[in-house]
Amino acid sequence: MMRQIGQISQIRRANYQPIIGLEIHIELKTKSKMFCGCPADHFGKPPNTQTCPVCLGLPGALPVPNRKAVEWTIMAGLALGCQIPGESKFDRKNYFYPDLPKGYQISQYDQPLAISGKLGNIGICRVHLEEDTGKLVHVEKATLIDFNRSGVPLMEIVTEPDLTSSDEAKEFLQNLQRIIKYLGISEADMEKGQMRCEPTVNLEIKKGNLTVYTPLAEIKNINSFRFVKRAIDFEVQRQFEEFERTGIEKQAGNKVTRGWNEQKGITILQREKEEAADYRYFPEPDIPPMRFERKNIEDLRKKLPELPEKRARRFIREYGVSEYNAAILIENKGKADFFEEAVSYARELEKPPGTKAIGDWIVNKRVDLAKTSPENLLKAILAKAGAATLDDSELIAAITSVLGINQKAVIDYNNGKEPALMFLVGQVLRRTKGKGDPGQIRLLLEKELHDDKKR
Ligand code: ZN
Ligand code: MN
Repeated sequence: MMRQIGQISQIRRANYQPIIGLEIHIELKTKSKMFCGCPADHFGKPPNTQTCPVCLGLPGALPVPNRKAVEWTIMAGLALGCQIPGESKFDRKNYFYPDLPKGYQISQYDQPLAISGKLGNIGICRVHLEEDTGKLVHVEKATLIDFNRSGVPLMEIVTEPDLTSSDEAKEFLQNLQRIIKYLGISEADMEKGQMRCEPTVNLEIKKGNLTVYTPLAEIKNINSFRFVKRAIDFEVQRQFEEFERTGIEKQAGNKVTRGWNEQKGITILQREKEEAADYRYFPEPDIPPMRFERKNIEDLRKKLPELPEKRARRFIREYGVSEYNAAILIENKGKADFFEEAVSYARELEKPPGTKAIGDWIVNKRVDLAKTSPENLLKAILAKAGAATLDDSELIAAITSVLGINQKAVIDYNNGKEPALMFLVGQVLRRTKGKGDPGQIRLLLEKELHDDKKR
C-alpha cells in the first residue's frame, strides 16, 4: 500500500515544474575597497582594523569608485556573453541594518554594467557592481560588528529563472566559479563567503489547461555547493506540499525571503514581502555616471584569458586527449597550465612521450601538482616508459621485422601450431633487448597474424 501512495504522489508531482533563478554575489580581490583606499582583503584580519570614514559611512565622506573593480565586472560580463551598455551609474539602495552604517548600500539599479548574457543554456539577466556590508558577529548576549568587510567590491550576477533542478543549479555555479577563477578576479570560495548564492524558487503547476505558480521564495544563508542543492530540494518539496495543502498562488510582484538553516536542513520564513520600491532606489549623487567607448570595451575583451570550455576543446583537438580527461585537466587553471607546460617541455626532448600520454598520466595517477614540476613529471613518465614498455612505433617495427624473417613460424602458427606464437614473442623480445610487455606483444602479434591471414 505504501508503494502505491508513493506512486500516486509521483504522478501528481510530474505536473509541478520547479522554476529556479540564481542571484550570486562575488567579492572581487582588488587591492583596495570599492569606494576608498582601505585594503579589500579582509578575511581573518583583526576586527575593525581596515576602515576609514568612507567605509564606516561617516557624514561628509566621499566615495571614489575603484576603476579595477569596474573593469573586472565588465570583463566578467563579457566572459558571460553579456552586452555592455555605453552608460552605467551607481544608485543608492536604502534600507536599515546594523551592518550598513550609511543606511544605504551603493549599488546599481536600472543601468547595470552588463546585461543579457548566457552561460550554457542559462540566461544572464545582469551583472552589476556594489559594495559589501560589514559583518555581524554574534557572541553571548550581544552582537558585535566588524567593518573590515564594509565597502569591499561585490559583483552581483542575476540569472534568468531558466534552471529547473537543484543539480542544474549546482552545475551552473561550479561552471561560473571556474570562469571567475580563470579570470583571476576572485577566489570565489563559498566557505569563505567570497561567493554567495541566493536561489529564487517557485513551482509552475499545470491544472488541466490552466497554469498557476506557487509564491516566489528567495533563499538566503547558503555557504556551499552542497547546501545550494539541499536548500533547493527542500524548498521545492516544501512548496509542493504547501500548495497541496493550501492551494495558495503567487501574488504579482510578491516575494518572500526564507533562510536556510544548516543544522535542521530546512528553510525558515524570514520576511513576508519585498519589492524594489521598498528600497527607494535613487541615483548616487556623489558619483558621476560612467561612460564607456566601444574601444574601451574591446580593449577589455582582448584581456580575457582563454576560458575553460574553449581550452578543453583545444586540448582535445591539439593534444589528442580524451573528452573525459580534457574536462579534468581544465578543472582549474593551475592544472591546465601545468599540463601545457609539460607539453611544451616535452617538445624540446629528442624522444618525447605523446601529449595524450602526458594528459593520461596527470589524470590517472592523480598527480599532486603542488609536489612536482612539469619537468619532473616528464622524467617520471620517461623513466617508467624506458623500464617496462616501448613506444608503440618501435614495438610495431620490431614485430614487423620479426614476422618478415620468420616465415616458417608464421606458417606453422597459421596451421594451428600454437607454440609458434611463443617463439615469435621471444624473437620480438630479443630484438627489443627485453623491453616491452610480453602480454602486449602477444596481443599485437595475434592481431598482425590475423590481419595477414585476411590479406
Ligand atoms: Zn575605507
Ligand atoms: Mn546585491
